[in-house]
Amino acid sequence: MLNNALHISKKLSLTTLLTGLVTLVILLTSGILLVGSYESKKRSLTETTMHLNYSNADRMSRTMDSLFLSMQSSLKYTAGKLSAIDTMAPEDVNEYLDLMQSSSNFFNSIAVIESDGLIRNVAPASVGTAGKHITSAISLEALAVQKPYISSPYLTANTKRLIVFLSQPIFDNTGTYLGILSGTIYLQDNNVLSDIFDNGQEDDSGAYYYIVDSDGHLVYHPDKQLIGESVSSNVVVQRLMNKESGEQQVRNTRGTELLAGYSSVPSNGWGIVVVSPVGQIHKELIGHIRILIWYSLLPFIIMLLGVILLARKFARPFVYLANVVSKMGKEKIELPEAKQYWSREAHLLTNGVLLALANIQEQTEQLTQEAVTDVLTGLMNRRSLEHTISEWIASGLPFSLVMLDVDKFKLVNDTYGHNSGDEVLKHVARVVVDSLRPDDVCYRYGGEEFVILLARTTPEAAFKAAERIRRAVEVSKAPVAAQVTVSQGIAHYPSHSSDREGLLEKADQALYLAKSGGRNRTVIAFLEQELSRF
Ligand code: GH3
Ligand code: MG
Ligand code: MG
Repeated sequence: MLNNALHISKKLSLTTLLTGLVTLVILLTSGILLVGSYESKKRSLTETTMHLNYSNADRMSRTMDSLFLSMQSSLKYTAGKLSAIDTMAPEDVNEYLDLMQSSSNFFNSIAVIESDGLIRNVAPASVGTAGKHITSAISLEALAVQKPYISSPYLTANTKRLIVFLSQPIFDNTGTYLGILSGTIYLQDNNVLSDIFDNGQEDDSGAYYYIVDSDGHLVYHPDKQLIGESVSSNVVVQRLMNKESGEQQVRNTRGTELLAGYSSVPSNGWGIVVVSPVGQIHKELIGHIRILIWYSLLPFIIMLLGVILLARKFARPFVYLANVVSKMGKEKIELPEAKQYWSREAHLLTNGVLLALANIQEQTEQLTQEAVTDVLTGLMNRRSLEHTISEWIASGLPFSLVMLDVDKFKLVNDTYGHNSGDEVLKHVARVVVDSLRPDDVCYRYGGEEFVILLARTTPEAAFKAAERIRRAVEVSKAPVAAQVTVSQGIAHYPSHSSDREGLLEKADQALYLAKSGGRNRTVIAFLEQELSRF
């Protein structure tokens, strides 16, 4: 039994089971939706970021292209003006150069180099190379090609500065090559290029950009230490070296996954790469998921409460039935009217079980009633008499007991037949019950013997009550012609005996005295001390 109770307490209730199941389904569905949303957001963020990086790279590449074209055309214009350089005063030439240098922020220095390599004029004069011969391989090459020229960035031998060298050839009116007009950009110094491009620092989204030259060397990079280094192993840089533009996901030399948009600059063969770390997208995604979770939390809680309410509503008939059925047999339960439920099965089951329970209860009550009553007289039987006596003794309640026996009953049977005997017994029972005080109870003890219990009654008071009964029977009209009388013996608890059997025996002894004394009389049992006097 205890084992069974433990077993049951471990079982889940239907409400918990239903709530748990639906919650699990909601959680799983939400989980799947979240993963789906995460994946699609990731894809769209990746694509958008790469597009954005590409369009930024493209815009910068156009800017740089037009900047270099402007630089070249600016050099070309002045180179045209210098076709008559041989007839010009050096001051006038210097003036041209100064004007050009100060009117735009294109170049850090401008120089006129004669075809033999002599640096004829330099602006600003502070550079101090005027009158010297060029030595660097780049400037010698620029002089030799006799065409517009843009160098790759290179380190100067003396100053170790990273520079870009642009030049335009100077021809006189007859087409004789006179030399070049060169413009030099110091990449790490202030100039229009650095004004526009030298702030490749990460923006809020973690994106940054870098610029490579046509050989795959870094020209601009947020990490200044890297400028001048070759990154030609990078896939994107290789594409740029092939003059391609586009977007793709790459891993940089430090192993970081990046979303890159890149665009090559036609005029100088450089390339611009705008990149965003993939990790940044993850951060945004986590933010997105967090917002999603926050927004779905309230609907989730509302849904959960709804589910709990529904589960309770759904489980109510079954919970109710389980409670009713579990109480059956343990306590008297008040069975309710048939109930209306919205679920067909719950409705049928509840009403079916209630009907069955009502039948069981009715039958049980009938059986219980039959077990304690005497069929012939309708009085309580000997079993219930013994039960009540035991209860009263156990609770220490004082009472008197009257044992009643019909006189010469055998004669009634013999004279009028057994059926008439039964009628006489019913008659005696009725007369006795009608003569009882409200709290007294009469039992059929067996055959033609009856016992009356009188709670909180002394033998003397019981005697009075018994005599009233005796007289009532005596004067009553019996269903047979003969007069019916009764004899009675009285015993008292606790004065005559402290146990049931002893008490019944004492009453029986008193009854025997009444019989032997002539019948139709009442006798109180003797007390032990009275007996000892005999
Ligand atoms: P006494 O005055 O000494 O009590 O004499 P008595 O004839 O009443 O006593 P006895 O015990 O000899 O007889 C009782 C009779 O009651 C015997 C039995 O057949 C009869 N009897 C017992 N139970 C019933 C019953 O339920 N119905 C009928 N009709 N008779 C019964
Ligand atoms: Mg008898
Ligand atoms: Mg008798």
